[in-house]
Amino acid sequence: MGMSYAPRARLVLSEEFCHIVLEYDILNKGLPKEAHADALTDQQHIDVEVDAQFLSLAILFPKAKFIKVFKDCLGQRSKTSNDKDKNIRDCGDALENMFQIWSLAVGYRARDLGLITVEECKRNFSNRLQM
Ligand SMILES: [Zn+2]
Repeated sequence: MGMSYAPRARLVLSEEFCHIVLEYDILNKGLPKEAHADALTDQQHIDVEVDAQFLSLAILFPKAKFIKVFKDCLGQRSKTSNDKDKNIRDCGDALENMFQIWSLAVGYRARDLGLITVEECKRNFSNRLQM
């Protein structure tokens, strides 16, 4: 993991911080005697990750500011190009720079806030990058 690259390191650290906040019960008391971390179902693992990711993105990209900046960026780019996917990717890069958070996370936050569709997120961010 490229921890030396601030936009990725900040994302990783924020997500780990959110695990500590969200899973306080387990961290505080430990798992119940009969439970093992690997006894979680796949769905429980997914839920734990999705919750931490969502909270992490909410902290890194304050909602009102993110919506304004993202919409302004897309509006500006659409004046010079009709290629919406390229405009979305360019805004991902612009916001990575502005917020110092990896553009993949910009894509997820824009998706979560309904600024782009799930398909646009996959096409322009998550399917193009290895996590
Ligand atoms: Zn995690």
